[in-house]
Amino acid sequence: MTDTMRAALWTGPEQIEYADVERPTPAANQVLIKVAYAGICGTDLTIYLGKHTRARAPLVMSHEFSGTVAEDPSGALPVGTPVVVNPLLMCGHCYACRNGLSHICSTLGLVGIDRDGGFAEYVAAPAHTVRPIPTSLSLQRAALVEPLAVAVHAVSVSDLRVGDTTAVLGAGPVGILVAQIARLAGALRVFVSEVSPKRLAIARELGFSVIDATRADPVDEILAATDGEGVPVVFESAGSQTTIFQAGRIARLGGQILQVGMPKTAVTIDMTPVMFREVRSKPIRVYREQDVQRAIAIAAGGRVDLDRPVTHILPIAELAKGLELAHAASDACKVLIAPAV
Ligand SMILES: [Zn+2]
Ligand SMILES: [Zn+2]
Repeated sequence: MTDTMRAALWTGPEQIEYADVERPTPAANQVLIKVAYAGICGTDLTIYLGKHTRARAPLVMSHEFSGTVAEDPSGALPVGTPVVVNPLLMCGHCYACRNGLSHICSTLGLVGIDRDGGFAEYVAAPAHTVRPIPTSLSLQRAALVEPLAVAVHAVSVSDLRVGDTTAVLGAGPVGILVAQIARLAGALRVFVSEVSPKRLAIARELGFSVIDATRADPVDEILAATDGEGVPVVFESAGSQTTIFQAGRIARLGGQILQVGMPKTAVTIDMTPVMFREVRSKPIRVYREQDVQRAIAIAAGGRVDLDRPVTHILPIAELAKGLELAHAASDACKVLIAPAV
């Protein structure tokens, strides 16, 4: 008799099936992780809606999860060790991989997209993706390490300097972490624009200069607050046509836009304000290993609030509800699934 486990399987566009499936047996180069918390990401939504180009059903989604080691055939990690994963799967030999840019590997894959991820009681993860975490970091907070690594990457490669005023356009799960990391990096004032009432409330509670973009134009507000100059660094974290357009006007002369939000479709960029002011754009796809290590240290050190961005914690049987909540965005920020509940 083989052991079974509860899993939420994506079986096709807008279809989730809850099933008892065979518990994976880890191969010699894998670690079996008992999942504690698994976050819903925009990428999971894209898969759920049937719009992801690589994902193939049936699939256990989620690349943002924490848990404890259930079995490590190599013996390196004792049973019970708290862990997260760096879910990136690189080829190791393309131009990017050969030149220190493996996070943009030409065939980059992710645990939870290209192989089963965290929306299950157990996941057999490649051993090279598993990262032990300090016991001082709760497993719930650890589930946010992956999006936190995106924020750490964006801020640390930006031109942000101590004492700067900056702007974050979009306070979704990544945007709200970018704003916090920008503050940790020394930003004196952080404008956060957003349309969702729930996300605005979270940004306000965290002490940011909040702009409700349903009532005021973030471009007007930020230019008015900066003597018409704009800010040296803008973090675009919504990926929408509107915010991408705004970013080009909020950036100061010679300023910089960190493109963190992933547009779902092709967007138009108005090059005139960008060219006239020689604004530079730096896209952020995922993160480097050093960003993951810093994210773990920052999370463990309690230097960012990883509790307020979490609006829902749901059992595995409510993944479809969680995906709908995250999709609507109006009442949700980060939605976590807790397979052990
Ligand atoms: Zn993600
Ligand atoms: Zn590669």
